[in-house]
Amino acid sequence: MDADIIIVGAGFAGLTLAARSGELGLKSIVVEQGEGPDYPCNSRYSGGMLHMGMDDPAAKQDYLIALIERLTDGLPDRAFTEAFTAEAPKAIAWVRGHGAQFIRLGNHPGRQWVMAPPRRGQPGLDWKGRGPDAIVRRLTEATLKHGGEIRMKTCGVRLIMEDGKCVGVEVESNGKRSQLRGRAVALADGGFQANPELVKRFVSPQADKVMQRNARTGRGDGLLMAEAVGARLVGMEGFYGHPLARDAFTNDLLWPHPYLDSMTISGVVVAEDGRRFVDEGLGPIYLANTMAKRANPLDATVIFDEAIWTGPAADKISPPAPNPTIEMVGATIYKAGTVKELAAAAGLPVDALSDTVAQHNDALARGTLGSLAIPRSSDQYKPMLIVKPPFYAVPMCTGITYTMGGPLIDPNARVVHRDGHPIEGLFAIGSASGGLEGGPHVGYIGGLIKAFTLGRLAAHFIATAAGKPVN
Ligand SMILES: Cc1cc2nc3c(=O)[nH]c(=O)nc-3n(C[C@H](O)[C@H](O)[C@H](O)COP(=O)(O)OP(=O)(O)OC[C@H]3O[C@@H](n4cnc5c(N)ncnc54)[C@H](O)[C@@H]3O)c2cc1C
Repeated sequence: MDADIIIVGAGFAGLTLAARSGELGLKSIVVEQGEGPDYPCNSRYSGGMLHMGMDDPAAKQDYLIALIERLTDGLPDRAFTEAFTAEAPKAIAWVRGHGAQFIRLGNHPGRQWVMAPPRRGQPGLDWKGRGPDAIVRRLTEATLKHGGEIRMKTCGVRLIMEDGKCVGVEVESNGKRSQLRGRAVALADGGFQANPELVKRFVSPQADKVMQRNARTGRGDGLLMAEAVGARLVGMEGFYGHPLARDAFTNDLLWPHPYLDSMTISGVVVAEDGRRFVDEGLGPIYLANTMAKRANPLDATVIFDEAIWTGPAADKISPPAPNPTIEMVGATIYKAGTVKELAAAAGLPVDALSDTVAQHNDALARGTLGSLAIPRSSDQYKPMLIVKPPFYAVPMCTGITYTMGGPLIDPNARVVHRDGHPIEGLFAIGSASGGLEGGPHVGYIGGLIKAFTLGRLAAHFIATAAGKPVN
């Protein structure tokens, strides 16, 4: 054996497993495809909001179990949700114990654990020296301190199986292949969002029209390796992401921030025919997923008025606010004194768009949003009237941050075989795993809490099996 655990990927999930298992007396080797101390990964690029279903991950366990069941329409089984919610607060305490600093941003329960220092609220990427980057460095130090090894520029390519048990990984470094063997292997490569073939297979008919709102490092290597040894795949179609200005494809100041959530949940979203195609009230992540699945993922435009632009769109709750940022950095925005003029300016059918806006206003005023041709829910997000000139139209694209699906795991993060039994020696953690997030309403539970919690659950199971006491 080269080490007790071989881990593919050095994001939060892989580093948590490596550092925690090191504390418990196990040696791990982490292989990371990136180069140098600033290698890109989603963990580093993240907004640093450690939440559970946009709520407080340290809330009462019963509350969190019910929340996960509601958001995912019961996707994970009860045993998994119980293990996950019991471990999450311990994971937060552990990350803090490694020097992670958190701040609260306002009273929103999902913003009580924001990694410090937070993003500066500027458009585009802002990760260097921010909270998530600092924690990647801390967990790297903790891994090395406890005897773990991190091999850079090394890619996991194939699982080594013997008698149905996973005993190692074939890796590639500088064009050379070699084997690393251990008592356990953990896939922690961060998802498959940056692999166009896999995105096309599971998420969108036109992967090239889905904007990569991520570090472009998750290419689904772990997924393909697990699938090749018989893993059951689950929740493959869902992803966490946001609607962005369409110009994000050519303007780096328009991704990952600002996103257009506030306008889409307050106004209406129409296709090229000037008609609505989605229940905007189901939220921006649901919208982003619906856009990706359309024959043309680039046909959506958000329509709103001055009250929305100076109200929700100017709210700095997740800075930078779209107003004034998108205008400042040069996104395409159509503005006009009437809805008809707006339609003409934006190249949308004049009668259809006027009709759509009139129907929205009428249904909202009468309280009949549920009777629209595409019903609009309003329990979670409050729609607004579109009546105050000027009126605005912003062409959008959908930004994919990370995929929610992957190999199904059990409450100890062990990969489950298509036959239903856990594959001995094989684990999937963080965004490489499936089964916690998704469902018909694309329940988003949180990429960060998933990475830390599953990394620890795997460490505890492997240590216990190796006869090490877990404190
Ligand atoms: C812009 C942005 C904002 C976000 N904001 C939030 C937020 O506020 N809250 C939240 O909960 N989540 C957020 N997320 C999601 C969160 O960052 C991720 O879900 C989480 O960090 C994933 O951690 P991970 O360790 O699973 O994957 P990653 O951090 O992506 O790490 C995976 C690592 O594996 C490496 N790798 C990939 N393939 C191989 C291979 N074959 N061999 C070796 N190495 C490989 C990659 O190079 C990478 O370093 C955000 C993500 C982004 C991009």
